Amino acid sequence: MSALRCVFVLLLFTLSCRAERRRSVRKDSEPLVIDDIAFDSELDRNADPCTSRGCMWGKSSDGKVYVPYTIAGHYTSRERSIIERGLSSFSESTCVRFIARTNQRDYINIQSDSGCYSYVGRRGYSQTVSLDKQGCIYHSTVQHELLHALGFNHEQCRSDRDQYIKVLWQNIQRGWEYAFDKINTLNQDTPYDYNSVMQYHKYAFSGNNRPTMEPIPNANVNFGQATEMSKNDILRVNRLYKC
Ligand SMILES: [Zn+2]
Repeated sequence: MSALRCVFVLLLFTLSCRAERRRSVRKDSEPLVIDDIAFDSELDRNADPCTSRGCMWGKSSDGKVYVPYTIAGHYTSRERSIIERGLSSFSESTCVRFIARTNQRDYINIQSDSGCYSYVGRRGYSQTVSLDKQGCIYHSTVQHELLHALGFNHEQCRSDRDQYIKVLWQNIQRGWEYAFDKINTLNQDTPYDYNSVMQYHKYAFSGNNRPTMEPIPNANVNFGQATEMSKNDILRVNRLYKC
């Protein structure tokens, strides 16, 4: 992906930490889509506090974590195969198994709504993971949204992010500052990871074409350009779910 395209893709997908958290407390499956349309993305993989309160997916007696899914019929076969590749990628490195839903009560319902978004963690019953045909059909985005559904938040929302990222508040588009709020994440002894598929791009939510985040201590380090889950992303899934 070219850098430009990457930025574009990032822009289309992501959700702010708070917006996703808002979704995470909504009761129905129709999310408040107040943010996905124009921004960024890449994200994070830090466990949300809800994982301590029951939003994790259950573990089966065989040690696997089965997460049922449905995929809407409106995708082309190419789009569907990219989505399926993202779903199956978890089985290569974690104990999470996304499986086609039969009659399970709780499941993720993958569809092309507006923007790329997901609730954080298991909500109960059907929960939408939106992978918009316009801008969300990329391997990294599929993994990103699935990580949200498993209970992870954006990297730059991590409780320890101030040691690694300086938020340049003056460059953030007005009204979107909350996308950079910190969350009391459970970091599971894993390091802050600039290469996480959950790390926002440095121009995320910029209102003036200047960076909204600067890495610490080296301001020239690149970040937010992951094309797939990093080792730490995988490690976090395995630690959170005790794979
Ligand atoms: Zn996200």
